[in-house]
Amino acid sequence: MDVFSVSSLEEAVSLLNTKKNAAIVAGGTDLLVKKVRNKLSVDSLIDICGISMLKEISNEVDCIRIGALTTFATLERELDAHPFCAALRQAACEMGAPQIRNRATIGGNIVTGSPAGDGIIALLALDAKIELISESEKRTVPLYDFFTGPGKTVIRPDEILTALIIPNQSGKSCFYKVGKRNALAVAVLSEAIYAEIREGKFETIRITVGSAAPTPIRAFRTEKFLLANRFNDEAVHESIRLIRDEISPIDDVRATAAYRREVAGNILRVLLQQLEK
Ligand SMILES: Cc1cc2nc3c(=O)[nH]c(=O)nc-3n(C[C@H](O)[C@H](O)[C@H](O)COP(=O)(O)OP(=O)(O)OC[C@H]3O[C@@H](n4cnc5c(N)ncnc54)[C@H](O)[C@@H]3O)c2cc1C
Repeated sequence: MDVFSVSSLEEAVSLLNTKKNAAIVAGGTDLLVKKVRNKLSVDSLIDICGISMLKEISNEVDCIRIGALTTFATLERELDAHPFCAALRQAACEMGAPQIRNRATIGGNIVTGSPAGDGIIALLALDAKIELISESEKRTVPLYDFFTGPGKTVIRPDEILTALIIPNQSGKSCFYKVGKRNALAVAVLSEAIYAEIREGKFETIRITVGSAAPTPIRAFRTEKFLLANRFNDEAVHESIRLIRDEISPIDDVRATAAYRREVAGNILRVLLQQLEK
């Protein structure tokens, strides 16, 4: 297998265009596990870690732009400056272990397309978009439209994910994950919320759930109910019932579907309580 280390985006997209069976490698924490398990069938790897412009977090007029090579350790350190992004910071703090967080990138987390991806669940609640670049085109895709199935996305073989764009917002967000243990655990179920509340009513709410369906999902019915009602104990109680009904988890090695439904309601209760603080 050939490995190419590049230091510019131009070089990377050009190589992707010419090498027909190639894969990008960023932190390598997903890709190299696949390789060790003989589940990686590519002829070349394009290592993009040398492209420094993909490691920047910048504040633009109406958004925060996070380079695809930003590691979870950097998100953990630097998102304090953006309180409405608390969900993403919490997801970064709980992801893997320090060794993994120092290597794993947010771009790699998104492209892996796992329904359990911690960064993905937080970013969906923040209404993020992603930027994809090929030699011939640059396009922006709402993150919600990126996933088509477990591990499947709309990225084309000639494209690189360059950045995530999170619109500036005035509300609060939070993230919570239940795993089989406290660290190094893939989520049995995870949720994130972004909300703006005024005079006891939700003006905006987005609830996202991981490990509850073939792709990361929004709990639209539960959101609609909360938007239509005052934020009080009765509404919280009903929203817990709704979210358990709305998701479609499966039984697998980590948990049963019934357990996941139960946990989805319990996490929602915790997150709604956190919004009140
Ligand atoms: C021990 C361990 C614990 C883990 N714990 C967690 C956890 O708690 N939560 C969690 O969500 N994940 C976890 N993971 C999974 C993994 O660490 C993350 O998904 C990570 O964010 C992947 O990023 P990476 O930079 O290492 O990606 P890589 O392994 O380099 O790449 C992953 C995939 O994305 C593609 N890719 C990467 N960057 C780009 C780009 N910019 N443009 C186009 N394609 C790209 C690659 O071609 C590959 O297909 C864990 C993994 C390990 C090994």
